[in-house]
Amino acid sequence: MARKGKAVVCRDWKKPVTIEEIQVDSPRANQVLIQLEAIGVCHSDLSVSNGTMPIPPPMVLGHEACGRIVELGEGVTEYQVGDKVIPCWIPSCGHCRFCAEGRAVLCDDWAKSFFGPKDGTRPLKDAAGNMLGAMSGVGVMAEYAILHEDNVIKIDPEVPSDKAALVGCGVMTGVGAVFNRARVKPGSSCAVIGAGGVGLNVIQGCAIAGAGIIVAVDMAEHKLELAKQFGATHTLNAGKEENLVKAVKKLTGGGADYAFECIGLGKMVEQAFRAVRKGGTALVVGVARGDDTTSLKTASITFEEKTLTGSYYGSARPREDFPRLIALYQAKKLKLDELITRTYSIDEAAQAFADLEAGRNARGVLVF
Ligand SMILES: [Zn+2]
Ligand SMILES: [Zn+2]
Repeated sequence: MARKGKAVVCRDWKKPVTIEEIQVDSPRANQVLIQLEAIGVCHSDLSVSNGTMPIPPPMVLGHEACGRIVELGEGVTEYQVGDKVIPCWIPSCGHCRFCAEGRAVLCDDWAKSFFGPKDGTRPLKDAAGNMLGAMSGVGVMAEYAILHEDNVIKIDPEVPSDKAALVGCGVMTGVGAVFNRARVKPGSSCAVIGAGGVGLNVIQGCAIAGAGIIVAVDMAEHKLELAKQFGATHTLNAGKEENLVKAVKKLTGGGADYAFECIGLGKMVEQAFRAVRKGGTALVVGVARGDDTTSLKTASITFEEKTLTGSYYGSARPREDFPRLIALYQAKKLKLDELITRTYSIDEAAQAFADLEAGRNARGVLVF
């Protein structure tokens, strides 16, 4: 049956988000209806709401969440009503060449789900009956959401939902970049540029991987303080440092083994690349605007044999990685409680977005 519930909607770029009562269809074949229990407010939600990521509104925001399945569409056999799940905004088909290589985030099917079903129908409608899009094909900043069965991952029901939600984007993106893409070796040196929601998770990923030196770089002192709690051994304030590259090189004995750019700015990618040692690896984890570019000194690419690569969504294989991250949390090795600065009701969503934009939160979480 169709349901009604509150949702956080982007109506116009650069306008505050609105809280609306929406209608959610019954699940179709291979879909599940989930009732959300907690939703993280991620920087990408802000980027969509202000047009930095130019996806046309109106749409229900949200892509980092945890909830329970309340209804199954036809043909769903893997899940049952009551299962606790984390939505995953990159579904993978399991058989394209990228899935076969274990690189699920590059799956050819990804774009299909991202922009909604091809027939143009949407399971979400506003109070006037007009169709609403769903951010990243999931749109989970709401009481109810309709997801394809490939877009949910079942987890241990004992894990608190507000903590588990964070695994669905920020934690996977940050920790995954370290484990899956960089494959940081114990004792190595790492520089992490940007200590926001994702950067903090890169930092804790480096710490869990056994890095020796972890240099956190940010312009905000309170974020650098937080970075130390997550395992940074050194901090650099980019606003005060005259020569960031030189400062990183000094702390890492000539250049970091790995540098992670977690902002999404070409200028900082250049700094990350220059801050790694000969043969080292710079990773772009931040999501840049479409018109942003990077320029590198070409000869240094040859002579220094450095690697520049990206990591998208923690280069995740979500079915394997989500339960593994939850297990790390249960073993008290992965910090999730400490990431949550504040929780909000869904009616306070606009405040949560304002706090995110002002850099007040490691993570703000909407809870029901
Ligand atoms: Zn996100
Ligand atoms: Zn695939």
